Amino acid sequence: MIKIPEKIMLANLPTRIEKLERLSQKLGGPNVYIKRDDQTGTEVSGNKIRKLEFSVREALDQGCDVLITCGGIQSNHCRATAAVASRIGIKSALLLKGNANIELDGNLFIDRLLGAEIHFITPEEYKNNRAEIMEKIKTELEQQGCKPYIIPEGASNGIGGFGYYNAMEEIISQEKEIGVHFDTIILAVGSGGTYSGLFLASKTLGYTGEIYGINVCDDAEHFKSEIYKISHESMQYLDIDLQFSKDEIHIIDGYVGKGYSLSRPEEIHFIHEFAKLEGIILDPVYTGKAMYGLVEEIKKGTFKNCKDILFIHTGGVFGLFPQKNLFTF
Ligand SMILES: *Cc1c(COP(=O)(O)O)cnc(C)c1O
Repeated sequence: MIKIPEKIMLANLPTRIEKLERLSQKLGGPNVYIKRDDQTGTEVSGNKIRKLEFSVREALDQGCDVLITCGGIQSNHCRATAAVASRIGIKSALLLKGNANIELDGNLFIDRLLGAEIHFITPEEYKNNRAEIMEKIKTELEQQGCKPYIIPEGASNGIGGFGYYNAMEEIISQEKEIGVHFDTIILAVGSGGTYSGLFLASKTLGYTGEIYGINVCDDAEHFKSEIYKISHESMQYLDIDLQFSKDEIHIIDGYVGKGYSLSRPEEIHFIHEFAKLEGIILDPVYTGKAMYGLVEEIKKGTFKNCKDILFIHTGGVFGLFPQKNLFTF
C-alpha cells in the first residue's frame, strides 16, 4: 500500500457523481456522468481545494502563517487560497495578473471580501517574473516577522497533485458503489496538476480507463511536459519509481478558442444550453470549454467505443459573473 502525504480536511468530500441523463440521450452515444467537484464547498468551491488540502498541510507543518500564491485576475485558485487562509486563521497574499482599476467582480470581489492582500502585476511580469516577485513578497513578509509559504500557480506541483491522487481513489470506490466502470475520464487542463494527480493514481491503483485532458491555454505538447514533470515531483514524496512515457498522457487540443479566459459565442451559447438542459452551471474559462469540447468530440465519433464517460466538473462558477454581458436572453 502506497502512503501519500497527510492533508488537512476542508473540502466537502466525497463529491457526488451524477448521470447527465438528457445530454447522454441527446447525443445518443456513450453515457456521460459528471463528478461535482464544483460542490467541494462554497468559498472554496472547485478543484483547487483538493490540492490545497495537501499544500496547506505542508505549510502548517513548516510553521507558516502566510500563503503566497498567484494567478489571473479571476483565479479560482487564488480565491480558494484566500478562503482557506481565512478559515484557518492565517493570512494570504495574492499576486494577480491584471489591473487594479478593474471592476470588482467574481473571484476578485471574493478575494477582497476574504481580506486577502492583493498585488497586481502586468501580464509581462506575470509571464516572466512571477516566481521572483513571489520571492520578493516573501522576503518582505519575513522582514515583518511572518513565515510565508509559496504555492505555485494552481497549486500544480508535487504536493498539490495529491489532491487528485486522492480524487482518483474516491472515483474508484464510487465506481464500486454505483456499479459503473468509467472507461474514460475527461477534465479541463489549465496548469496540469489535476490531470497529474489523476494520472499518477491511475498508474499506482491500476485504473484501466483512459484520462483525457482538454487544454484551455497553451498546447498539448506543453501540458504533456508539465504533467510529466508534476507527476515526477509527486513521486518524490512516495517510495516508488514508476516508468511511463509522455505519450500515455492524453491531451485533446483544439478548444482553447480565442485564448485563456476569452470566450467565443459558441461556447457562451453552449453554457446557456447546458444550464437549461441539465440544471448545472459551467464556467467560461475551464469547464465550459472542456464540456463543449467533449460534446464536439462525441459528435465526431472520437468516443464511439466508450460506454461510460466521467466528466469532472472542476468548478469556477464565480468566473461566470464577470462575463455576464456576453450572454443574451
Ligand atoms: C484551475 C482550474 C482547472 C484546471 O486545473 P489545473 O490543475 O490547473 O490543470 C479547471 N477548472 C477550473 C474551474 C479551475 O479553476
